[in-house]
Amino acid sequence: MLFDLGPRLPTTRDVARVVKRAGAEALTEAERRADSARYQEIRCRSALNPVKGMPFEWTLNPYRGCTHACHYCFARRYQTQLELGPGDEFSSLIFVKANFVEVLRRELDHPKWHRQLAALGTATDPYQPIEGHYELTRGSLQALASARSPVGLLTKGPMVVRDIDILQDLMANTRGSSVCVSVPTVDETAWRTLEPGTAPPLQRLRAVRKMVDAGLDAGVLMAPLVPGFSTHPARIEATIKAIADHGARFVGSNILFLDGGTRDHFMRFLGAEFPAMTEQYGQLYASKYVAKDYAERVKKTVALLKVRYGLITRSRRGEDSEPSEPVTAAPAQAALW
Ligand code: SF4
Repeated sequence: MLFDLGPRLPTTRDVARVVKRAGAEALTEAERRADSARYQEIRCRSALNPVKGMPFEWTLNPYRGCTHACHYCFARRYQTQLELGPGDEFSSLIFVKANFVEVLRRELDHPKWHRQLAALGTATDPYQPIEGHYELTRGSLQALASARSPVGLLTKGPMVVRDIDILQDLMANTRGSSVCVSVPTVDETAWRTLEPGTAPPLQRLRAVRKMVDAGLDAGVLMAPLVPGFSTHPARIEATIKAIADHGARFVGSNILFLDGGTRDHFMRFLGAEFPAMTEQYGQLYASKYVAKDYAERVKKTVALLKVRYGLITRSRRGEDSEPSEPVTAAPAQAALW
């Protein structure tokens, strides 16, 4: 015990005395919070990464790893390619591609670049806190705007509103640019449990409102819906209502997918924190996809509620559909665990 003050917390003077005597390292009772991550600058050889089987052909990820630390993050499995673990190392050791913007500008200037849609933020969050320091995402958007090249931006970071000016430029001068803010649920318990490093869901939705008010094509990706945490119909309804209340131009959704290192990490997390759920998860996730009948029940609930709240669905290919699906009944509350 450094401070023998009973239940009282130390004052600034108590702390200052300890630091003066032995330095900040002596504050052994201080919790490491906010940013206990280490950042490693690296040089990249390419910025635009070609992908197959997706609704876009190129991805852009200026960072690798993510301090938002969502337990379900599908990008955790990529860490194993670097001989790093999909657990804490994914969220505490971040690689910063320091020359990313310079390389991207070169690639966008190449005569063979045909201004296809590039998805920004598919394997890391482009607005995780360190972006405030490096501004690689902002630099990338500026490069794309200069090249008149469209972007599909995905983030959980309210910092995206900082770049509204460039996004307005991009949307005015390209076809198909959009911003999607990921808000899987507005349930505070599920948020704290599953996405420990992210901003609160309502803060993210306020960012959506601000972007829509600024004339941007901004919507919400309600994904992943995580069985037992965010799939109860009442929670889905609260989320869809909040999304509608914040003026989202479109909404997409999907259900948790568990593969490779992500599956290992998620099942370990469940075993440690929610052991009573592991058996049901074993049954629901015999493969990397959730059981079909369960998926159907979740989809039906989501579809009904989108109609009820007048939300437009955007497909993975970027096509919008009006809220007119003839859904007549949602599954019973208990049926979704
Ligand atoms: S914010 Fe996105 S990239 Fe970051 S941990 Fe969460 S799901 Fe993964």
